Amino acid sequence: MTYVERVLKNLKKHNPNEPEFHQAATEILTTLEPVVEKHPEYEKAALLERFVEPERVIMFRVPWVDDKGKVQVNKGYRVQFNSAIGPYKGGLRFHPSVNLSIIKFLGLEQILKNSLTGLPIGGGKGGSDFDPKGKSDREVMAFCQSFMNELYRHIGADTDVPAGDIGVGGREIGYLFGQYKRIRDEHVGVLTGRGLSYGGSLVRTEATGYGLIYITEEALKARGDSFEGKTVVISGFGNVAIYACQKAQSLGAKVVAMYDSNGYIYDPNGIKLDIVKDIKEVKRGRIKEYAQRVEGSVYTEGCKGIWTIPCDIALPCATQNEIDAASAQTLVNNGCKYVGEGANMPSTLEAIEVFQKNGVVFLPAKAANAGGVATSALEMAQSSGRIFWTFEEVDAKLKGIMVNIYHNIDNAAKEYGYEGNYVMGANIAGFKKVADAMMAHGVV
Ligand code: NDP
Repeated sequence: MTYVERVLKNLKKHNPNEPEFHQAATEILTTLEPVVEKHPEYEKAALLERFVEPERVIMFRVPWVDDKGKVQVNKGYRVQFNSAIGPYKGGLRFHPSVNLSIIKFLGLEQILKNSLTGLPIGGGKGGSDFDPKGKSDREVMAFCQSFMNELYRHIGADTDVPAGDIGVGGREIGYLFGQYKRIRDEHVGVLTGRGLSYGGSLVRTEATGYGLIYITEEALKARGDSFEGKTVVISGFGNVAIYACQKAQSLGAKVVAMYDSNGYIYDPNGIKLDIVKDIKEVKRGRIKEYAQRVEGSVYTEGCKGIWTIPCDIALPCATQNEIDAASAQTLVNNGCKYVGEGANMPSTLEAIEVFQKNGVVFLPAKAANAGGVATSALEMAQSSGRIFWTFEEVDAKLKGIMVNIYHNIDNAAKEYGYEGNYVMGANIAGFKKVADAMMAHGVV
């Protein structure tokens, strides 16, 4: 049994009932075989064992009172996974499916993603099984304040800087920040994704979606191609999906489908983004309204069918494990040539295998969606420097970072003899920097 196999076996044994964490760890560790072979000192230092064990896991109760006066209790989490290269950084997810396994998989991914940005940020992730959907603003505020009443002791501008994720957007960040400031009496960059009136950065809202398109554009360019005239399918109907759609359209692509967790819309004439934004961002409505408002578009109940729509480029931007092997095969059969992961771990291990076997250019999440956290780090830089960059300045830095990530993962894959395998490239390139820092720090 190899070193990697032993670490994975132990991880599964000592962390039972954490399937998403096992999945992410398997994807990462199996691609690191050639690196640990080249560096026998890692095994001696138990580097992988330390890498897969969070530095700290915080779990807490979050009591709050709903609009009927009833006391509700949710679970809160913050996993401070790895601070070797910088303060913990990673989003908060509010969704009923949230559990320790999901937060740990996201945290583990985040370590390498943050490393790939080239910026000094470690990996962390948090959240709650609270569901903001259907709650009043007052209920969301009550929940966020209670969540922060515990979280504030563990975070700080130089310690751990959370941001948004599924179910945590500008409104939630505002309530969380307001409560942190009230308790600590500090107006600092302790959360990113803040509003522009209180320390936020331009482009943070658009960053993950834009970044996904920038890296995909670079992959297209490397093959003498572009977004112009391409048919694109995007899953999700949230922050990442909307801004990926906007940027892809601005580069001449036709985005024909999107979904929320109830069903998908197909618009053969190209999605009308102003209507999408009105439904989602203004009315907090459901995607099905789109078909009622746009002639020629169709709404279908259920999500999976979206992957049967023929496209050149698929951009999963909703949640983990959206694309299984069967959907991946359907995409391939219908001529899909590029997959860029906007969501975290949206493709199963089997789906990735299908893409890679069939020559699809597959850009894994930790590289493809790193634009969000990269821009968060730019927000941190502006906060500590008390400076404010223009939209064009931040956007140019974001684009530079994404182009760089593409070439780093491409080069790392080539260096280890796996040309075009960006799962290998991203994991290796991300891991090397973290491993160097961990080795330099000694046994900690
Ligand atoms: P949002 O909450 O803004 O949107 C999420 C979208 O995905 C919603 O349309 C939601 O539908 C849909 N969705 C969620 N769960 C499911 C499900 N089980 N099945 C089908 N659809 C689902 O989140 P974001 O756009 O911020 O995040 C999307 C993904 O991108 C996540 O994987 C996140 O981790 C990742 N990501 C986000 C970053 C960011 O900056 N925001 C940065 C990097 C990664 P519904 O409203 O019906 O629940």
